[in-house]
Amino acid sequence: MRKKIVAANWKMNLNLTEGAELVNEIFKGLPPLSEDRRVVIAPPYLHLTQTAAQLTGMIDVCLGAQNCYSEASGAYTGEISAAMLKSAEVDYVIIGHSERREYFKEDDATLAKKVNQALINELQVIFCCGEPLEIRDANTQNAYVEAQIKAGIFHLSELQLKNVVIAYEPIWAIGTGRTATSEQAQDMHAHIRSVIAAQYGAAVADDMPILYGGSCKPSNAAELFACADVDGGLIGGASLKAAEFLGIINAMVEA
Ligand code: PEP
Repeated sequence: MRKKIVAANWKMNLNLTEGAELVNEIFKGLPPLSEDRRVVIAPPYLHLTQTAAQLTGMIDVCLGAQNCYSEASGAYTGEISAAMLKSAEVDYVIIGHSERREYFKEDDATLAKKVNQALINELQVIFCCGEPLEIRDANTQNAYVEAQIKAGIFHLSELQLKNVVIAYEPIWAIGTGRTATSEQAQDMHAHIRSVIAAQYGAAVADDMPILYGGSCKPSNAAELFACADVDGGLIGGASLKAAEFLGIINAMVEA
């Protein structure tokens, strides 16, 4: 059965004390999660060992990283490898976030290498895709997102793909307060699933969680998560406040 997932992307926010407090607050309000529901918390690298210790013994709340490097090891000052993440008990890694693509010029080839590094090291990948506003305005978003997916993950085997979750994040909705309508989200998610089905077959596509990201909050999460092909969310701003993040988790639990 396909999992529903809510993943927190803290981005470059919170010091260690604030991070520990946020995780404690989330724990206090966390509803019971059935086997097909999962929460992922992706703090900055510096927090990972601390957050891993806080998550000890929890099976349905997993640790995520926001990035990894595209090579296995070596003279890459300042970088963190997928193997290091694995050794820090990380379960998931976000790859291809639009902020990485834009500010750090990560191109399709680099992202495909990062995906490989993550999978070699038995991490699960949250692979991000999504179009800028001009592409949406030109109504060419389906082809744009399809190309991102093909370049990032279509070199994988069917077995490898089982460890990939896609996050559709229209760039015009990230951090802007402008959410995609549930119809826009559903249309794109259905398109992404059909792209996966055409390459890997319907059963594989049916099993793959496809998350929505972009100004998701407690007030719109239930409507988004009620869409047939929206399997949860990747949450930025609203994951930094326990009450808001818990509201979104509750919407996933009830979806
Ligand atoms: C994100 O950056 O992944 C994101 C979805 O951000 P926000 O929720 O703040 O729009």
